[in-house]
Amino acid sequence: MTDFASLVHAVPDFPKPGIVFRDITPLLANAGAFARCIDALADPWLGQGVQAVCGIESRGFIFGAALAQKLKAGFVPLRKPGKLPPPVTGVDYELEYGSDRLEARAGALRPGERTLIVDDVLATGGTLAAARALVVELGAELAGAAVVIELDALDGRARWDRVTPLHSLLHY
Ligand code: IMP
Repeated sequence: MTDFASLVHAVPDFPKPGIVFRDITPLLANAGAFARCIDALADPWLGQGVQAVCGIESRGFIFGAALAQKLKAGFVPLRKPGKLPPPVTGVDYELEYGSDRLEARAGALRPGERTLIVDDVLATGGTLAAARALVVELGAELAGAAVVIELDALDGRARWDRVTPLHSLLHY
């Protein structure tokens, strides 16, 4: 039985020199490891009344959709701008260089719907913070966030708050 952590490959100098990219595709390709990863990701959220799972484009779709099935919740994609047909609700956020935007279908979440945000990697935390703002903008209740990998040195967790649960499976 292969531990799913060993199937996250560290790729130096991708996409730019000096960056160590965490590649989760070997994990996805291993049926047992992928299943164990989803089980572990779901574990803290079982019995927490999660009604909707929001996955962040694009790798958050893979983990988020599987997690939604496990939690018997609906799945809502949070997408890069221009991908979803109107009407959409969106939030802009700052990157190290420039800005980006996340969008959801307007009305994708019901008022007060207990919602979990899912992504593959938490790095600087900008993407997760934007997803959080979008879920709040949509009027849902934020249950928390689940990520497979947290890059501790970048302290993305500091851009989350101290009270809403944020669970990560692997730390680098
Ligand atoms: P942040 O906004 O800096 O926290 O970056 C998080 C986003 O960048 C996530 O949506 C990830 O998919 C992506 N990301 C950042 N670093 C990596 C990596 O090493 N591997 C895969 N995705 C990454």
